[in-house]
Amino acid sequence: MRVVVAGGAGFLGSHLCDRLLDDGEEVVCVDNYLTGRKNNIEHLLGRPGFELLEQDVSEQMTVPGTVDAILEFASPASPLDYARYPIETLKAGSHGTLHALDLARSKGARFLLASTSEVYGDPLVHPQEESYWGHVNPIGPRSMYDEAKRFAEALTTAYRNRHGIDTAIIRIFNTYGPRMRTDDGRAIPAFVSQALRGEPVTVAGDGLQTRSVCYVDDLVEGIVRMLRSGLPGPVNLGNPHEMSIIDTARLVVELIGADVPIKFIPRPGDDPMVRRPDITLARRQLDWEPVIDVRDGLLRTIEWFASELGAGPVPGAA
Ligand code: NAD
Ligand code: UDP
Repeated sequence: MRVVVAGGAGFLGSHLCDRLLDDGEEVVCVDNYLTGRKNNIEHLLGRPGFELLEQDVSEQMTVPGTVDAILEFASPASPLDYARYPIETLKAGSHGTLHALDLARSKGARFLLASTSEVYGDPLVHPQEESYWGHVNPIGPRSMYDEAKRFAEALTTAYRNRHGIDTAIIRIFNTYGPRMRTDDGRAIPAFVSQALRGEPVTVAGDGLQTRSVCYVDDLVEGIVRMLRSGLPGPVNLGNPHEMSIIDTARLVVELIGADVPIKFIPRPGDDPMVRRPDITLARRQLDWEPVIDVRDGLLRTIEWFASELGAGPVPGAA
């Protein structure tokens, strides 16, 4: 297969490029480096089967030659990033998805949309299953991201129904691992880089809000299975192991062996109180579930961040 990975220089996209190439596929990475980094895919330059195209998918998406599948991952994803780039985020979800769908249509390719648990908003149903319609503030501080992804799902559905495109929608829940930026603002990269630098870890509110975090390798396995399944979704992909944010911060500090306090900071507006995927569908249809324990995943992540930051050896990660 020749697979286009839009957003391929980002955190998830770069891991997907690695995995697809390792599986023997050809990969065309498309990115404009808005929130990603060339560093993430530098090791792939010159590798047979890998091509890199610098394009803003909100403006155009042009890929010469045959294309068998398009993975649409091009969008800011961290709350800090999408607040910084609100219009770019809305355009990526709308114009970017439109261009990717048109490319899939012209090439006869399978199209996979990276949607998100954020389509459920601040959920009133817990855990979240795919049939839940969500609870989203259309003009709130997260609306540029949530509504862009909800629009992208609607557009994908319309193209499937109107043009008979082979589409897939995955709803990704919080995922972490190597290659997240230290300044990306999401909880795990923030806690890990703060603790490694010997700074206080910043917990928003009382930290009792929950998330269920998935290690990147587990997620990539789920995405690849969905790509090859031919199924339309939407399907939740994430780790159902739910933890409070304050416990997550404490675990990171413990694993690093850092002696740093918790600094409580104001909680951002519309920050979801709970989040946990119901992955019954993914288990049944894809025979998939995460296998990497949170302590193992965090240790691998800490090790990578330690080398990024030039920190000394980390006791727990040795
Ligand atoms: P990321 O910011 O690391 O990666 C996004 C990539 O898209 C970056 O390389 C960025 O430069 C690129 N990009 C953004 N706008 C673009 C544009 N207009 N044209 C071309 N490239 C563009 O974020 P990530 O965590 O890797 O997320 C990737 C995708 O997965 C996003 O669509 C996100 O919504 C989705 N997702 C991620 C998570 C998660 O936990 N990481 C959860 C749910 C959904
Ligand atoms: N959070 C935190 N400290 C930080 C960054 C985030 O306490 O430095 C909180 C944030 O308010 C949210 C949770 O951690 O309640 C997860 O935030 P993240 O940005 O990782 O993902 P999302 O909110 O998109 O799930």
